[in-house]
Amino acid sequence: MRMLLAGNWKMHGLKASLGEIRALGRALADEPTQGHVLVCPPATLIVEAVKAAEGSSIAIGGQDCHAQASGAFTGDISAEMLRDAGATAVIVGHSERRLYHGESNATVAAKTKAARRAGLHPILCVGETEEERSTGRAISVVTAQLKASIAPEVEAADLAVAYEPVWAIGTGKTPMSDEIAQMHEAVRAALSARFGSEAALVRILYGGSVKPENAASILAIPNVDGALIGGASLKAADFLAIIRAAPRR
Ligand code: PEP
Repeated sequence: MRMLLAGNWKMHGLKASLGEIRALGRALADEPTQGHVLVCPPATLIVEAVKAAEGSSIAIGGQDCHAQASGAFTGDISAEMLRDAGATAVIVGHSERRLYHGESNATVAAKTKAARRAGLHPILCVGETEEERSTGRAISVVTAQLKASIAPEVEAADLAVAYEPVWAIGTGKTPMSDEIAQMHEAVRAALSARFGSEAALVRILYGGSVKPENAASILAIPNVDGALIGGASLKAADFLAIIRAAPRR
């Protein structure tokens, strides 16, 4: 299975930032890469980002979607709208959505269903807080989140899961390699309970302070099938260094 290297630009990026996608596309054209590359810019840039990525191996995704296809939901964007704009994937359940927008597991599950309905690959985020880890509850919290955040309609082949410890996002802190290995094994086991042997088709990404300096060691951990990258995906040079660190699987 090829790795997935997904960049989450969050609420960063104006039209001028599209040059980073063009630069990344040019660099990737000159070298064979081991992974699939996805950039998730703000929704305002998706149409232009798709154009900027044209002819390259870069796919474009959304950062969130509403569960409904359309309706009176001021300010929201549906999975169908993202697909119409040219996105092929969507991040759902990011911890910033869970924290700042009060999204429950049930809300996130409805979004995974919406992604499937619209033909988008959902990248489902799960992760524990610092307190949950320090009190020994990280694995039980994450596996419970996972179980409750995947709608029955979702197929294993469409899904990626991003394990993102909340305390590692944007902080420069990362778990120890053996903690990541243990969590990814637990996520795989939870996916097996849900999907049986098809669980092997689900990419399990690690996210949280992935940088050019630590990417090779993180991507070498068993059951790590790629990364979800925030800050370091904003500059083509940094993102490219992470993409280059992905091993052949
Ligand atoms: C993220 O937002 O998903 C993320 C992992 O951010 P960062 O890489 O900046 O920690």
